[in-house]
Amino acid sequence: MIDDFKHKGKREQLVRLLREKGIEDENVLQAINRVPRHLFIDSAFEEFAYQDNAFPIAAGQTISHPYTVAKQTSLLHVLKGDKVLEIGTGSGYQAAVLVEMGAEVYTIERQKELFDFSQRIFRKIQIRPKYATYGDGYKGLPSFAPFDRIIVTAGSATIPKTLLTQLKIGGIMVIPLGTTNQMMTTFLRVSERDFERMEFGDCQFVPMLERTEKEVKR
Ligand code: SAH
Repeated sequence: MIDDFKHKGKREQLVRLLREKGIEDENVLQAINRVPRHLFIDSAFEEFAYQDNAFPIAAGQTISHPYTVAKQTSLLHVLKGDKVLEIGTGSGYQAAVLVEMGAEVYTIERQKELFDFSQRIFRKIQIRPKYATYGDGYKGLPSFAPFDRIIVTAGSATIPKTLLTQLKIGGIMVIPLGTTNQMMTTFLRVSERDFERMEFGDCQFVPMLERTEKEVKR
């Protein structure tokens, strides 16, 4: 694994750019400063890894713009030791940022190819979520619930009620809601039955799909 002074210098520049774009959460910025994003993308794009761009990863999916990761992670208000569920592991970059922030991360990916890819990277960089699995994120992880935070990194046309039930009272879910364009939306669970909903502007994510590839083929 190569992560040299050039990569580190570029990461510092990226962090400066994110600050200029309005990201203020120091924990988020420090985590982005530590995670070697260039190792999560195809080596053909390595030299652009620290620009604020999205890139294709395997299976027609994308690793989000660093700004989107930073913004969405800031909205989660992660505290050290929080139990965080991520839907859509993808490359594993967002999960690694959460781990670096001191969260206990549980992550689900629907596509086997990406699940395998992220596992390899986690091993390589020695940043590991507490639990990573392959399956349908709409179901969440009932056996590990409740969670302090839930982050959905694919666009969902509907509000996944099952996920809301897996949130602790006082917990926050951040999710892009919509079809082609989404609205970055947060839900704060204020009681057993009540949630406060807030919206934070347009964003663009790949769509969240139901069921795993295996189930679809059957
Ligand atoms: N967080 C990722 C980017 C995610 S792209 C990163 O840091 O790289 C969105 C991911 O959500 C894709 O990998 C896609 O396969 C996955 N996905 C889509 N629908 C899903 C579902 N129902 N359950 C779990 N993962 C899903």
